[in-house]
Amino acid sequence: MENILFPFWMEIDAQNLHNNVEVLKRWSPSSSLMAVVKSEAYGHGWEAVNLLYDYGLRKFGVASVEEAHELRKRGIKGDIYLLGGFFTEEAEMILEDGLTPVVSSPKELQALEELARKADKIIPFHLKVDTGMGRMGFLPQEINGEWWKRWGNNCHLSLRGVMTHFASAESDPAYTHFQFDNFLSFLGRLPENNPSRERHCCNSAAFLAFPEMHLDLSRVGIAFWGVSPWGRKATLPLDLKPVMRIKARVKQVKTLPPGFSVGYGGTFTTSRETKIAIISIGYSQGLFRSLSNRMEVLVRGKRAPSRGNISMDQMTVEVTGIEGVEKGDIATVVGKEGKEEVTIEEIADLAHTVPHEVLCSLGKIKNRMIYENHCSLAK
Ligand SMILES: *Cc1c(COP(=O)(O)O)cnc(C)c1O
Repeated sequence: MENILFPFWMEIDAQNLHNNVEVLKRWSPSSSLMAVVKSEAYGHGWEAVNLLYDYGLRKFGVASVEEAHELRKRGIKGDIYLLGGFFTEEAEMILEDGLTPVVSSPKELQALEELARKADKIIPFHLKVDTGMGRMGFLPQEINGEWWKRWGNNCHLSLRGVMTHFASAESDPAYTHFQFDNFLSFLGRLPENNPSRERHCCNSAAFLAFPEMHLDLSRVGIAFWGVSPWGRKATLPLDLKPVMRIKARVKQVKTLPPGFSVGYGGTFTTSRETKIAIISIGYSQGLFRSLSNRMEVLVRGKRAPSRGNISMDQMTVEVTGIEGVEKGDIATVVGKEGKEEVTIEEIADLAHTVPHEVLCSLGKIKNRMIYENHCSLAK
């Protein structure tokens, strides 16, 4: 196996990803899916977007022109939506790469119009309204009669869709309904002849929890990767399977006497004879230092708790009572071994953050292997 040449690596379970695509498509037969793949596909690597493409997805959402360009370079066709907007200097790239910008200000519209006029082209765009997120987007009242006259039926710009974004779909159903109602009343005020065909508001949490909000298109991110937007406690309504596994090798096993302190700052002291395994992964690979003395990894199928502070490229775990652990063993940092499983949700909970941040952070691991099925090493 070539992967044991690495001290740590990421495995991408393509079969589980394929499962998730099918399950999510079935959840919403009448509306289409945009795979939101910003931050290198939530840390899974751009190759994972090619897998989504192979599984039939043709709409992708990214945070920046740079990310969109990366996808085009990798042969991704179809619609690429610039969810995070763009800087006016980047407008030319939008035309060259055939991107669909999501527009939140008149400045962006002016830049696009000028460019399209010079090139004698029509640029498609989506309009973003801020119904209660307080981030990007026009306020609903800014989209008035004057706006429509200027931008609604412009001969160089083509309004293809209207969107809003939820602030608390994971945590606050009442606020999400409030935003949805705002959005519906905004849509109700659009002129009869408005040309937009795609109305969208759902992220993963809203997509899963509120089917009545699907409209024409849903922007699904974290659910593709089999991770719950609610974190550990919530049960996912669908059979979504985790895609990312993280492995790291044992560098040394040693037995410390009682009263011995472990790691920088001496945050753990043995109270008995303690067997410690040193695992070759640390915060440089995206494991937050705040997980020290909290998280567990799997060694020989058993849970081994973190002891002492996580360092840059190493962490120490207790393996007292786990038989046969030796240098070179492969520990599972995220994933399943037999009956035990360490999940992204569990790590997020221990680190007091959202699972999204854990995925992005582990995305620092660039040694990635794609597994087409559970037993063979494919690429
Ligand atoms: C990131 C993002 C999403 C996807 O969110 P998930 O919770 O990962 O599903 C949807 N819409 C916008 C505008 C986003 O930026």
